[in-house]
Amino acid sequence: MGRTSKDKRDVYYRLAKENGWRARSAFKLLQLDEEFQLFQGVKRAVDLCAAPGSWSQVLSQKIGGQSSGQVVAVDLQAMAPLPGVIQIQGDITQLSTAKEIIQHFEGCPADLVVCDGAPDVTGLHDVDEYMQAQLLLAALNIATHVLKLGGCFVAKIFRGRDVTLLYGQLRVFFSSVLCAKPKSSRNSSIEAFAVCQGYDPPEGFIPDLTRPLLDYSYDLDFNQLDGPARFIVPFVTCGDLSAYDSDRSYPLDEACRLKKNGQLAKELLPQECSIGRVDKLPQ
Ligand code: SAM
Repeated sequence: MGRTSKDKRDVYYRLAKENGWRARSAFKLLQLDEEFQLFQGVKRAVDLCAAPGSWSQVLSQKIGGQSSGQVVAVDLQAMAPLPGVIQIQGDITQLSTAKEIIQHFEGCPADLVVCDGAPDVTGLHDVDEYMQAQLLLAALNIATHVLKLGGCFVAKIFRGRDVTLLYGQLRVFFSSVLCAKPKSSRNSSIEAFAVCQGYDPPEGFIPDLTRPLLDYSYDLDFNQLDGPARFIVPFVTCGDLSAYDSDRSYPLDEACRLKKNGQLAKELLPQECSIGRVDKLPQ
């Protein structure tokens, strides 16, 4: 095993700089798309918790070229403008934000809703996992207002103790739920992404942002999706096997030798080669 990189400016950070992405997170969405073809046929997409905007950049590049392609991005923080992206500065837990998104689509539903949201980390694992789950449910609540039937929802999830309950709750609304870990997401992080396809809410479900999603009563208890009712989701890693490992550092000499032999999936820049040391490079 090579030495792991605790440096936030890892190889994906540097590739993001080189390719003009606003954040290294762009590679997570690109690798998720490689695996699930998320953008196929998508004309309208919503990017929840979008700042600084690398996912919006990916979305506008992938779907903005299509004739009526439209991207709406929401974040608490202001974001520098991006061509082809409508921006809303707001809180995704607020009804007013949902209304504003709906207004931009002029009654047309979205094909894809993504959420890379992360609350401020407290360092208390249980609290952080709970907050992340609540943010995901708030994103799902907004998605129930804007997503077309059969549409797709992708959201950051923490694989913590109670994650199976969350999977079960997502499964109430989608015909397929998977947990995916892109190569650009560090193994050392409990972060992963719930990829929910085939939006199919329970019969009689009426979206209502004035109350929490979990207040509804269904045939099965939305808060007790454990025990025999537990839903176990497939776990998928995505990104080319030869893609960079976000937990590794790449030394100058090894990376340059591989580059010369055409063995690197993506070329390293000389300045990228100068980060850290590693005992063995990935094949
Ligand atoms: N996907 C983004 C990108 O590629 O540039 C990075 C998103 S960043 C990891 C998480 C974002 O979630 C932060 O910008 C934060 O402001 C936003 N956020 C957290 N809670 C939010 C909320 N309740 N409403 C809107 N945005 C929120």
